[in-house]
Amino acid sequence: MYIQAITLFPEMFAALTEYGVTGRALKQGLWRFDALNPRRFADNKLGYIDDRPFGGGPGMIMQAPPLQAALDAARQQAENAVTIYLSPQGKPLTHDMTVALAQQENLIVLCGRYEGIDERLFARNAIQEICIGDFVVSGGELPAMMLIDAVLRHRPQVLGDERSAQEDSFGNGLLDCPHYTRPVEFCGLGVPEVLLSGNHAAIAQWRLKQSLQRTRTRRPDLWERRSLTPQESRLLQEILSEQQDNSISEQEKT
Ligand code: SAM
Repeated sequence: MYIQAITLFPEMFAALTEYGVTGRALKQGLWRFDALNPRRFADNKLGYIDDRPFGGGPGMIMQAPPLQAALDAARQQAENAVTIYLSPQGKPLTHDMTVALAQQENLIVLCGRYEGIDERLFARNAIQEICIGDFVVSGGELPAMMLIDAVLRHRPQVLGDERSAQEDSFGNGLLDCPHYTRPVEFCGLGVPEVLLSGNHAAIAQWRLKQSLQRTRTRRPDLWERRSLTPQESRLLQEILSEQQDNSISEQEKT
């Protein structure tokens, strides 16, 4: 996969290219990365690429011409690239979108700064707008890095164990189960017995039950969309009757 970022701060992408899963994958040649600074395409010696908004108001706007030139240069390197502008006004990023984007071979991510980008850039180019959450950050670089990281996790061989992406939250429409590691006792707290039993079928069932319980209580939106398998329906019945037992014993205490 070849990813190009159009950004005023190429150095920020070191967080992605030099560290962790994505850094290792880059070294292994599982993806390639280039950053293009639109200042290279400025029509002035000082490299200014922003100007005051027509109509007045606070802040500056990134100009269309240097961004168009940067986009054209990026597209020359990867003709069929999908172009994404990270924007608070875009479609909210989801797990399914990251899986779909991972099928692409070429991506261009456009990172805004200041108050945003001259609207005419979007009138002239096919650009998908993607939002990472209902809040505003100061630039598109962090949102772009989040998107790229999430996409790369779905590329072959990027994760040490391919099952990780499937078992992570959202992978199968559920939240992940709780995890434990050594020591067996921490501040008087133990580990669920089943995880120490070596019984893999019982462990898998416990994990699924925990995922169901967590998703139902923490993410009703995901829960509503889920059609339960027969095994999941049976586990849900167990959860509900355990909850009923707990509330009866709570009532008895009072
Ligand atoms: N005036 C813009 C608005 O309200 O829609 C916000 C501009 S913001 C300060 C600067 C840049 O950060 C944006 O152009 C965009 O690239 C990026 N950005 C900010 N919040 C974002 C979000 N939630 N998702 C994706 N990108 C975001």
